[in-house]
Amino acid sequence: MKKVVVLTGAGISAESGISTFRDAGGLWEQYRVEDVATPEGYLKDKALVIDFYNQRRRQLATVEPNEGHRQLVRLEKYYDVQIVTQNVDNLHERAGSTNVIHLHGELTKVRSERNPRLISDIGYKDIHVGDLAEDGAQLRPHIVWFGEAVPEIENAANLCETCDYFIVVGTSMNVYPAAGLIHYVPRSSRCWLVDPNAVPISRDITIIKEKAGTGVKKVVDELIAMSEK
Ligand code: NAD
Repeated sequence: MKKVVVLTGAGISAESGISTFRDAGGLWEQYRVEDVATPEGYLKDKALVIDFYNQRRRQLATVEPNEGHRQLVRLEKYYDVQIVTQNVDNLHERAGSTNVIHLHGELTKVRSERNPRLISDIGYKDIHVGDLAEDGAQLRPHIVWFGEAVPEIENAANLCETCDYFIVVGTSMNVYPAAGLIHYVPRSSRCWLVDPNAVPISRDITIIKEKAGTGVKKVVDELIAMSEK
C-alpha cells in the first residue's frame, strides 16, 4: 500500500466547534498564550493553567468529529495512512483513524510534573492543584507548551521522508517545528493543502481553498480514484 501522511492543525476541528488559534473571534482572543501555554505561565499560576485545560477538556466532551475527520478514515481502505496532528483534541481517534501522532500532546491525558514519561489517562475529568502523580509530583496537562521540546517530531519527520502523498489540513504553518515537516517530504511526492485562507508555500502543492468538511473529501476522492486505476 502507498503511504499517505496527513498533517492537521486547529482548522480541521473548527467545524466541530473548537476555536482555532489564530482566527478572529476565537477563544484565543480571551487568553494570552504566555499565560496559559508556556512553562513560564504555568510556573506563575498553576491553578489558572490547570483550569484552562480543564475547560478545554470539558468542551471536548461536548463536541463531535466532523466530515473532515471522517473523510480521512475512508482513505485507510486504500492507503497506509498516518495522521500527524498538532491538535490536542481526540477527534481523529473518535472519527475512527487508526494511526495518530499528537505532536503537541493530548487533552485527555495528564502527566507528572517531574517525569514526562509518567503519563496517565484522565478522560474528560478535571485535575486540580494538589492532585499528584504516582511519583508524588503535581499532575500537569499532557500538553507541549510553546518553548518545550516536541518529542514526537523525529518520528513524524521519518514518516514524512517516506510518504508517497502528503496532505496538509487547517494549519497556518506558523508553529515550528511542525510547520517544517513539509520539507522532509520527497519532492516527487504529491502534496495538497486544504485551508480556506491558504497562502502559497515554497513547494509544488495543490491548494484547495475550502473548509475541511468539503476540501478533504475532494482530496480523498482523488486519491481513492488514483488507487483504483
Ligand atoms: P492556527 O490557528 O494557527 O491555524 C488554523 C488554520 O486553520 C488557519 O490557517 C485557518 O485558515 C484554518 N481554518 C479555519 N477554519 C478552517 C476550516 N473549517 N477548515 C480548514 N481550515 C480552517 O492553528 P495551527 O496551525 O494548528 O497552530 C495552532 C497551535 O495551537 C497548534 O499547535 C495546536 O496545538 C494548538 N491548538 C489546538 C487546537 C485543537 O486541538 N483543536 C485548537 C486550537 C489551538
